[in-house]
Amino acid sequence: MPDLKPDADLLLTIDLDALVANYMAYRALAHGAEVAGVVKADGYGLGLLPVARALADAGCTTFFVTNLAEGAALRSLLPDGHIFLTNGLPTGAARAIREADLIPCIGSWPELDEWVAEAGIAKRALPTALHFDTGMNRLGFSTLETLDMERLETGSKSLEIELVMSHLACADVEGHPLNAVQLERFRAVAARFPKARKSLANSAGVLLGGDYCFDLVRPGYALFGGNPRGSGVSPVIPVVGAYARILQVRDVGPDEVAGYGATWKTADSRRLATLSVGYADGYNWRLGSATGAARVAFGGHVAPVAGRVSMDLLIADVTDIAKEFVVRGAYAELIGPHIPLEEVAAYAGTIGYEVLTGLGDRYARHYTGKSAPTES
Ligand SMILES: *Cc1c(COP(=O)(O)O)cnc(C)c1O
Repeated sequence: MPDLKPDADLLLTIDLDALVANYMAYRALAHGAEVAGVVKADGYGLGLLPVARALADAGCTTFFVTNLAEGAALRSLLPDGHIFLTNGLPTGAARAIREADLIPCIGSWPELDEWVAEAGIAKRALPTALHFDTGMNRLGFSTLETLDMERLETGSKSLEIELVMSHLACADVEGHPLNAVQLERFRAVAARFPKARKSLANSAGVLLGGDYCFDLVRPGYALFGGNPRGSGVSPVIPVVGAYARILQVRDVGPDEVAGYGATWKTADSRRLATLSVGYADGYNWRLGSATGAARVAFGGHVAPVAGRVSMDLLIADVTDIAKEFVVRGAYAELIGPHIPLEEVAAYAGTIGYEVLTGLGDRYARHYTGKSAPTES
């Protein structure tokens, strides 16, 4: 059980020492490449600034976030960090991006034109990443089309191309044929920019081996404790715990129901605990018992969910749990040492990434570890 916040109905514990341990594990796995920290989407839902502070304290100097707002927030914490924007340069944002000293991952001609124009105004070569799409068909200059390399090389002359990057579509599936295809396409295009550093791998990409690591790797999910392949032995340790308070405990007889739709029925006498969490807190509606009964834990003992997940409430069947663990005000574990993140994701029919980033802001965040904010 974590150190408790007396006033929090919902508690998120974030072990920053574990985060740093995962970062160091990736340094050891990265075949000599620099390990950046991908901290987009509010640090995968765990809080951008505390998470970035911990990574920076551990020696991380390169960060990736999605957009200007995230980049500007991170810049205020890290005056010297290299901060890349994965979603590139939105129209009209060049000035603000330059002023915040952020590096857009440029992946289209209009972006390039606007950034070059901004470099002209600034009268200096602006730091830039070039993003190539090597097969995912999502973002970046497509290496499939007849990409006008000359235009790109000439067009980017007034820029300082710090990084050439691409992103893998199937890195979590070792042996997927697209990985090798993307690797070859990336090698070919990257060779045109000999002075730039190269980056291809996310969390799962690093596990594909040294060929995929180049100069810089970009793990996000694994740093936050997610298993990059979704299942099997994980190279990282858990970072997150999610806990909800017990609001009520009741004993019910046979032929009773629980929750919306009366989908859950008792055959005999059961004890039910009602928890202060619901789908509005990222506890997915599919975790209800109609679709397979996810589990929550009380004092380290697991119990099944009973009935549907409500917006702000959840019912668990605690009949088999010792009474001392099921008292009003105690915390039930939703994610943590006994309920792995990947298990919750599997029951919800989604991926751990969505579980983390969907937790929402009703949780009180409690940071532990060397880099934890003092007032937590
Ligand atoms: C999100 C993202 C990453 C990190 O991916 P993980 O799977 O979380 O490691 C890396 N690179 C880019 C471009 C991304 O958008």
